[in-house]
Amino acid sequence: MLEKRNYYRLPWSMNDNPIAWLEVTDICNIHCEGCYRQYMTGHKSLEELKEEVLFFMKWRNPDNFSIAGGEPLIHPQIVDLVAFIAQQGVKPVILSNGVALTPELLHELKKAGLAGFTMHVDSHQNRPHWNDKNEKEHNQLRQEIADMVAAEGGLYLVFNSTVYPDTYHEIPDIVRWGHANIEKVQGLVFITYRTATTEDNIATDVNDQEVDMSKLSYTRESFHEHFVTAPEVYQIIKDNFPEYDAAGYLGGSIRHDSYKWLIGVMVGSKNNIYGSIGKKTMEFAQIGHHLQKGRYLAYMTSGKIGRKIFWMSHWDDTIRQARRNRRKDVVRHPARLFDDIFIQSVGIIQAPDIMPDGRADMCDSCPDITIYDGKFVNSCRMDEYRLFGGFVSMVEKDKVGTKSES
Ligand code: SF4
Repeated sequence: MLEKRNYYRLPWSMNDNPIAWLEVTDICNIHCEGCYRQYMTGHKSLEELKEEVLFFMKWRNPDNFSIAGGEPLIHPQIVDLVAFIAQQGVKPVILSNGVALTPELLHELKKAGLAGFTMHVDSHQNRPHWNDKNEKEHNQLRQEIADMVAAEGGLYLVFNSTVYPDTYHEIPDIVRWGHANIEKVQGLVFITYRTATTEDNIATDVNDQEVDMSKLSYTRESFHEHFVTAPEVYQIIKDNFPEYDAAGYLGGSIRHDSYKWLIGVMVGSKNNIYGSIGKKTMEFAQIGHHLQKGRYLAYMTSGKIGRKIFWMSHWDDTIRQARRNRRKDVVRHPARLFDDIFIQSVGIIQAPDIMPDGRADMCDSCPDITIYDGKFVNSCRMDEYRLFGGFVSMVEKDKVGTKSES
């Protein structure tokens, strides 16, 4: 059972946040069911992107740029953009579906200063030849990508999966695969699927005028399956991997009991997972990084942390347990004393929830803020700005005239 006091509330904010979400294009080469973005404007120019990079550097204090889209790898100047971001002294990280990735492009990106990838792979992406395959079968695709990135070397790799009501039970298959690849994969992220429906709601814009919600890629005529929540994802991982625990979180912008971002970091070797870090280690990592670099931390440069992680046992009960588990393992298998120790993050993100009064419960201190028209906006709702000039408010059809602002 999750208790907020057991986890560290990440100290991120609008103006001091480790992540800058830079969208380079709204064109994509596949069509994921859970995507928030639709094609309207195409690739941004390199000049425009450089201006956005400098805007983030001035107002956001990022440690990494999440280069997103659409599909960033099909942007013709992606290598130049990566080089420009690296020149600013921060980490360029590409969020990709991997379709356009080749060893040659990978090499060019690495040479330009790329820090790593977050690869989005799940079974609802309408990928050619993968349509009827489940999450466990998609591990083969994850493996191909992980092997390619590992062959280049020196790049951080995280896999994202959107979690749907019908794939929720397959989460342990992905976590198990991640553990088996702890040397190559530094993190897994599960993002819970959300839509708004047009069946019971109407939407109004900032001028209180009704808008056509069906223009948004994340509305559906109807959807009656129960949406999966972050605590449910936490529980299914915990039930299958008792050594897992979360260490940090971000709550909701409206609801006091939401877990919008829940971050765990597991500790293990290629032979065994020993446990997780606790809230003290998460706090130490955030504050220590800020003291040293002046910025908070979202991506490490490597998952190979070594035995020094166990020094935190003096302050952190959770990691103390991991150290005990490792000692027992080494007594049983002495050769494992020389195993390298890695960390692997397990993140859970619960996308915005529409409240009964029409407002949306967003992520407190949204890490995925992007730039629209010279302002910061939550990237998951930017298409409301692009289509309707601002956030829309959802109102139940039978409550029109009583809505609150979103
Ligand atoms: S509010 Fe921000 S962090 Fe949360 S899902 Fe939307 S864009 Fe991502």
